Amino acid sequence: MNNFFDLRFEDLEDELHGLSQPGFRAKQIWEGIYQQLLSSWQDFTNLPKDLCTFLEGRYSLESLNVLDETTALDQQSTKYLFTLADDNFVESVILRNNDRITLCVSTQSGCPVGCVFCATGNFGYYRDLTSGEIVEQVILLSRLLNKEDEHITNIVLMGMGEPFLNYDATLEAIKRFNDNSGMNIGARRITISTIGIPDKILRFAQEGLQVNLAVSLHAPNDELRRKLVPLAAKIKITDLMEVCRQYIKITNRRVTFEYVLIKGINDQPQQAEQLAALLNGMLCHVNLIGLNPTVHYPGQPPSNQAMNAFGHILLSHRIPTSVRNSQGSDIQAACGQLAGKVRKPNKVK
Ligand code: SF4
Repeated sequence: MNNFFDLRFEDLEDELHGLSQPGFRAKQIWEGIYQQLLSSWQDFTNLPKDLCTFLEGRYSLESLNVLDETTALDQQSTKYLFTLADDNFVESVILRNNDRITLCVSTQSGCPVGCVFCATGNFGYYRDLTSGEIVEQVILLSRLLNKEDEHITNIVLMGMGEPFLNYDATLEAIKRFNDNSGMNIGARRITISTIGIPDKILRFAQEGLQVNLAVSLHAPNDELRRKLVPLAAKIKITDLMEVCRQYIKITNRRVTFEYVLIKGINDQPQQAEQLAALLNGMLCHVNLIGLNPTVHYPGQPPSNQAMNAFGHILLSHRIPTSVRNSQGSDIQAACGQLAGKVRKPNKVK
């Protein structure tokens, strides 16, 4: 069975053309799936019955299954564990914050980057997701939210995986989120989060999208970054900064730098000074996030006072900085805590 969400609109048009269907059918189907969020081909009252039956035998509208669902004590975050058609799995999170409902979705099952403080990194890498599997996370969660008369406002590609190591599928999914005849989520409401793969940042800059770019830095020098973000060992921070400056020049958009603060490791005043020097004069914003402890890593977050002191140093150098609270840490859904826990997936390397 094929996953309908892997189809582009033009693929659907071609298929329907081959079935001698009228030209308007593709639009009817696209709107039914992406706007009305129909989950069964038999729910299409505007399609001929025999076409519904054909599509039902050919395309699945539910290739992901919810295996587990956990809501945080404050009811603001809900984490979903999905099984994929091959029994691998991924996690996605709904994050509520005032009027904003953000979906944090995954681009890979597991993650090859191996950040030492991240549960997903410790969990290993299993496989890349298809564009349809990335899109379907959003569709499934949108259907659930719809039942509560809620709607998504933002998407962050910050769940399991490194989006730029699954570039084509991620880009295709972003286009589908942004498609104004489908989900119609504004590009400025979508954020892609990467450890900073230079050639992919430059490629992304050329795509002409208004999507936000977040680069997870976590260290102000190569020696420390190599320890915290092993896959980034070959990426020199000065090269990464140069590429980020080029990205800003090409897109005229700011870059957000994510920096997870770990007590006694990367939270010292001289490290804040080093970071300030790296980002000097750049159109950027820094998000400081206290480490969310996991069972795999002994590190702890700094005190609020230490986090604020680190932030003040950046601000004193005129670098826009926020100290962020992490949502969902009590359900292991916060940054660095996503990891399938129910059972081992199929390793397909
Ligand atoms: S923090 Fe992100 S990039 Fe690093 S291992 Fe975890 S999921 Fe991968």
